[in-house]
Amino acid sequence: MLPFLTSFETRSLTNLEKSSMDNRKNDKPDGRVEILTHLCKGCLLCIEACPPEVLAMSESLNKMGYHAAEYIGDGCTSCGICFYICPEPGVVTVYKRVKSTKKLEAE
Ligand code: SF4
Ligand code: SF4
Repeated sequence: MLPFLTSFETRSLTNLEKSSMDNRKNDKPDGRVEILTHLCKGCLLCIEACPPEVLAMSESLNKMGYHAAEYIGDGCTSCGICFYICPEPGVVTVYKRVKSTKKLEAE
């Protein structure tokens, strides 16, 4: 049988809870992508497919003579599209920050 709630408790938020809520409100994309530019063939597929447009073509040429794709450094959502669309195995690695599930402790 489920416990029957007869009342509820109100209390002020702790500073830690307030800060956690602020962080969630300002949630920024928390992904990151690494591209092995020396193996990239510069096909541009990942650049065209990236929804937040955070990949760009490098100005310089790699050792194979291609303008490699590179991450511009901010805004990756870790959707993984660039990983799946890249025809070159192992060139793209996508990282996603895992949020802590640790419970907030009351002050
Ligand atoms: S994982 Fe998604 S958002 Fe991040 S660079 Fe690749 S396509 Fe763009
Ligand atoms: S899809 Fe792969 S090979 Fe093509 S530009 Fe992007 S990283 Fe380079």
